[in-house]
Amino acid sequence: MKLPVFAEPLGAELDACSEVGELWTPLGDGGVRCVACAHRCVIADGSRGACGVRYNRGGALRVPFGYVARRYVRSVETNTVFHVLPGAQALTFGMYGCDLRCPYCHNHRISQALRDGPTQEHPTPMSPAALVDEALGAGCRVLCAAYNEPMLSVEWMARVFELARARGLVTAVVSDGHSTPEALRYLRRTADVFRVDLKAHDEASYKRLGGRLQPVLDSIALARELGYWVEVVTLVVPGLNQEARAIASLGARLREIDPAMPWHLNGFVPRYRLAREPSAEPLFLLMAAGSAYALGSRFVYVGNAPACAELAHTRCPECHTLLIRRHDYRTLENHLRGAACQQCGAELPGIWRPLAPASRPRDTTPNPSCELGDLGRPDRDRQERPRVT
Ligand code: SF4
Repeated sequence: MKLPVFAEPLGAELDACSEVGELWTPLGDGGVRCVACAHRCVIADGSRGACGVRYNRGGALRVPFGYVARRYVRSVETNTVFHVLPGAQALTFGMYGCDLRCPYCHNHRISQALRDGPTQEHPTPMSPAALVDEALGAGCRVLCAAYNEPMLSVEWMARVFELARARGLVTAVVSDGHSTPEALRYLRRTADVFRVDLKAHDEASYKRLGGRLQPVLDSIALARELGYWVEVVTLVVPGLNQEARAIASLGARLREIDPAMPWHLNGFVPRYRLAREPSAEPLFLLMAAGSAYALGSRFVYVGNAPACAELAHTRCPECHTLLIRRHDYRTLENHLRGAACQQCGAELPGIWRPLAPASRPRDTTPNPSCELGDLGRPDRDRQERPRVT
């Protein structure tokens, strides 16, 4: 694993916005094991994990807390989330760092800032209350963590989401899915939606991105079991997965988990280290979606491809009535009756109305599968939190 270059002064700024985390175990020699992502880094005192933002100081794992790198208010659909409150506004925030190194990342200025060197974007200290107030003040019904890999900051996200839910917001995480059962269970107490990227069909391709396929598949299956609302995105990238065999394999794996789980085939747009590569082929996207439908997938969408605009809409899987019309990641028309097709009455899966408190998990006991280090318990270091606005 290539260790991150820690770019100053961003590194110092981020270290000031940290607190002792919860998802780690002490190893008895001053080292710790982080369990926030599938790398499961063993980190010696004074060192950092592969993501660069979680680090061991004095035998305790410090994690990002009390800031955001970016935040925008946009339609929920811009997060490629189509079956959650169509047309709602979402406040989406991002932090720094990533456990993967995708050469086409649209958000590399924050996700790869610790590896690539200086960035113009600096952290803005914020409290959970300020973030939630901002979302509600802007008329949002969804609060979403995205842009970099949010699971690196899972403790901070949980704190923000806890408050957001208490004030009526639906909470969503847009993740690379290279996660752990511990992190997914921990976050489920406060998160409603798990929007996950399934990037490649085999381990060799995932290795090029810095991760592994199996933990991603396992995370998708577990997230469904735990009751998250799950939507999956595959960015179709020439040279990585733009081939029929790759997409067929991914479709088969997803149908094994749940054929009704929405699957978005988004076309690659040249960016970052692949800025000179061609965009994804619209014809390939069209054929891949058609083939997935023919094999039993119930909701397949195509994005970033104007030639495939018809495949951004939601149709009833039973009678094929057009139910939700979208354009450019915005909902234009919604003909659902509650959660049902207005024509044949078939129920469509998704979160179509704000969630009642009773429909959400109430368990707040510590996750038994994650043995917390003494220093990792939340009350222990409350006085150490960074000053927030
Ligand atoms: S979040 Fe992942 S990459 Fe970062 S320290 Fe933890 S296990 Fe390592």
